[in-house]
Amino acid sequence: MSDVPGTVRPATKRVRSEQDHSKASTKAAEASRENGSDHEDANEDKHEDDDWLKEPPFSVGKSKDGWETKWRESCWCGKVAFVYNAEKPLQSKICHCEDCQRLHGAPYQHSCIFKKDMVRLDDDASSKWLGFLSAHGEVHPLSSTPTPLPRKVSCRACGSPLFDEGRNMIMAFPPAFEWIRTHKEVEQAKKEDKGHHGSEGDSGKGARKQQGFPDELKAQCHIFYERRCVDIKDGLPKWRGHKEDSELMGEDEK
Ligand SMILES: [Zn+2]
Ligand SMILES: [Zn+2]
Repeated sequence: MSDVPGTVRPATKRVRSEQDHSKASTKAAEASRENGSDHEDANEDKHEDDDWLKEPPFSVGKSKDGWETKWRESCWCGKVAFVYNAEKPLQSKICHCEDCQRLHGAPYQHSCIFKKDMVRLDDDASSKWLGFLSAHGEVHPLSSTPTPLPRKVSCRACGSPLFDEGRNMIMAFPPAFEWIRTHKEVEQAKKEDKGHHGSEGDSGKGARKQQGFPDELKAQCHIFYERRCVDIKDGLPKWRGHKEDSELMGEDEK
């Protein structure tokens, strides 16, 4: 599991248990440093020539032979969107660790793991609004060009987090997915929903009314449950720390 991007942690001093969510990502960070992928915090907006845009999970201008969009993920303001060519994620988990709570401003974070080469920036999305944040040891402030891996990728215009990027995998956040099955259906729903767009401030609203949260993206377990803000009574396995590397807990257990 060392490929899986962990949560990018802020450099604040906090008490941590042995079970640190960021263990796996530290390895990824070391590996990326060995590969010389440190970047300056240049903030120029000339992205089209940049090599990183030609690689997954960005892949601008790369051949799309055989590509079939199964899912689309977009930020709140709609400037940044990614498409996914995979029926379902490799894993889907809800994490209750305090890094996720703080970085997402939410009681927990739901993430789905996909291989990077199953992900690309959508054609109508603007790469200039991408934001990168790395915070291992030293914090690399939010940048418009890639900071060292692992990193959090977000929209710089509205601040929505889109995924955490590791060497080979990304952890995407399904609340940012358009909850309908195919890109075709997304396009269709957009047309049908045009009258409501913008006025209600929820770009996915029409789609979300049509269909509930997709089974393919549903969480399979909870991790770091002992650090939760809220009890979740959904019958799923609750791990005290990492999945399969800690104890299972009861839903009410402290
Ligand atoms: Zn945005
Ligand atoms: Zn976490």
